[in-house]
Amino acid sequence: MKTDFLIIGGGAIGLSSAIVLLEAGFKVVLIDRSSTGTEASWAGGGILSPLCSWDYSEAVTTLAGRSMGMFERTAAMLFDATGIDTEYRKSGMLLLPPYQNERATTWCKAHQVTLNQVRLDEHLQGMQGEGLFMPDIAQVRNPRLLQALRRRVEMLGGKILEQYEALNFDIQYDKIASLKTSKGSLSADAYIMAAGAWSSALLGEHAMGMEVRPIRGQILLFKFDTPPFSNILLQENLYFIPRKDGHVLVGSTLEDAGFDKRTTTQAWAYLLQRVHALFPDWPSPIKHWAGLRPGSPDNIPTIGRHPHLLNLYANCGHFRYGVTMSPASAKLLLDSIDGHPDPTYRWRE
Ligand SMILES: Cc1cc2nc3c(=O)[nH]c(=O)nc-3n(C[C@H](O)[C@H](O)[C@H](O)COP(=O)(O)OP(=O)(O)OC[C@H]3O[C@@H](n4cnc5c(N)ncnc54)[C@H](O)[C@@H]3O)c2cc1C
Repeated sequence: MKTDFLIIGGGAIGLSSAIVLLEAGFKVVLIDRSSTGTEASWAGGGILSPLCSWDYSEAVTTLAGRSMGMFERTAAMLFDATGIDTEYRKSGMLLLPPYQNERATTWCKAHQVTLNQVRLDEHLQGMQGEGLFMPDIAQVRNPRLLQALRRRVEMLGGKILEQYEALNFDIQYDKIASLKTSKGSLSADAYIMAAGAWSSALLGEHAMGMEVRPIRGQILLFKFDTPPFSNILLQENLYFIPRKDGHVLVGSTLEDAGFDKRTTTQAWAYLLQRVHALFPDWPSPIKHWAGLRPGSPDNIPTIGRHPHLLNLYANCGHFRYGVTMSPASAKLLLDSIDGHPDPTYRWRE
């Protein structure tokens, strides 16, 4: 069978790209060096929004905003098609002080995002003072989202090859002729780099101006019989994400530790100390994990065709918000393939 697109990487970005291409009628093969959905997309919190949107550029706001507008439909479509509930829900996000009230209010007004000044004890029993509440912010449960995306790819006829590690490209003139993998060579009409934090390293000199590097994040997981609160909480850079079944994720760190995905006792202690400053009675976490975000300058991903290699595309470098940005990024990739690239996210020389 002739392959139109060979996608490298089976995280939220690679799987979402596969779905959009398959729906457009292309033949797609996706490879992953381990199992799909086991790296950053699995490790992430699943908040479907930038944390403090007012701290980011319009490039981030636009892509995240488009995706946030698509997610409810995407989750419903995945549920109808696969039967897997991604646990998408608008749980809202409550900002605890200290925060930049004026900056947040001005930004939300300009972008028509609802932001309400609230009394904290309306949302959190026994908590004094005031907070800011963003009722429209949603969340998703990452492992379930990834299972649903994968199932959808297979249902649409996409071929998934796991334990296939991309090693290097055979380049002839201005095109890729084939991809060498740990299990032999594979070829396709075109190739899509969606290998998350590993994308630039894998491309070597062909990465050109695309600077994606790993930024580690660690999360603690708590478990309660019933959810202690229903909204996502954000206090400066610390977030609490309550799931329906009583799990609460608390994260995260931002660490430049290369490709080292190990958890550390320092991060455990730091996160726990921040948790206890707010909730002194909380029990010990039941789990601790780390993931490598695909870090990129200003959090702006690269989506589009390589400056010189005519059959190579990228969809990578989504840094802190790749789950949020996944549906709109897949659509932008398809637009680029159709000859309508968005220059904001172009592959830089
Ligand atoms: C702690 C933490 C919290 C986060 N919280 C959020 C959040 O709340 N909301 C949000 O939107 N985002 C969040 N993120 C960021 C988000 O998870 C990432 O931006 C997103 O998952 C990136 O998706 P991806 O598909 O590009 O990368 P990944 O999910 O890392 O997938 C890349 C895939 O490529 C494969 N691969 C790598 N090298 C090769 C190779 N040589 N050959 C074949 N396959 C290869 C890997 O095995 C992997 O499966 C968080 C991240 C972390 C770590």
